[in-house]
Amino acid sequence: MKTWIPDERNFVYLTWKQVDALPRDATLLVLPTAAIEQHGHHLPLATDTLINNLLLGKALALVPAELSVYALPPVCYGKSNEHVGFPGTLSVSAQTFLAVVRDLGASITASGFKKVVLYNTHGGNTSLVDVLARDLRAEFGLRTFTLLGSAPAFSQ
Ligand SMILES: [Zn+2]
Repeated sequence: MKTWIPDERNFVYLTWKQVDALPRDATLLVLPTAAIEQHGHHLPLATDTLINNLLLGKALALVPAELSVYALPPVCYGKSNEHVGFPGTLSVSAQTFLAVVRDLGASITASGFKKVVLYNTHGGNTSLVDVLARDLRAEFGLRTFTLLGSAPAFSQ
């Protein structure tokens, strides 16, 4: 999938030795969450994921070089059961979404990092991301932050 994340801010382009050299307490990891789902007649299935990636990439390009901030690969599959029935929508259950992000939190903790931003651009994930921010804090002691790039599902 196309990415706007600058190479030098893309966590997965690092080697494990480069990760090991990062300042654990000062590093901020951004975990994007989005969806693959119908977006009307004119937009691609990856719309939420592409918007997330574009905005995050543009923001990271403005971060001063001396700051240790990295984008993790996105969790592209979200809770999109409100769109099941539209061909192409690929949804996961709340339980699966919670389990995947919780396990990523475990890995982030095991790697020694302390701060993670959950950056979500799919309304159907919003309530789960809020729960996850508190649960990752409680279970792993992570400092969690949430950024929401879309309105909650079914909001007025
Ligand atoms: Zn969406």
